[in-house]
Amino acid sequence: MSYHIRNTGPMLASPRCGAKTRCGDACRSPAVSRKKRCRMHGGAPGSGAPRANRNARKHGLFTGDAIAERRRIRELLGEARRLLEEMK
Ligand SMILES: [Zn+2]
Repeated sequence: MSYHIRNTGPMLASPRCGAKTRCGDACRSPAVSRKKRCRMHGGAPGSGAPRANRNARKHGLFTGDAIAERRRIRELLGEARRLLEEMK
């Protein structure tokens, strides 16, 4: 029989994943270092969405720049229309 004292305190004190598992409980696996989730719940290297939610951007039609450009064009067209009405 071994009398080696197991020092598992630091291991057990590490941050836990906490993701909701299929049975509804929180995942108890240790979180990957500098991440909130374990290797099976999105903590693996290279996983997860890129910064600033670029996954949702398909064509850029609704970016702030595109909306501002359309507003400027509308204002310019309105100005031209008013000018043409004055010239009549
Ligand atoms: Zn997990």
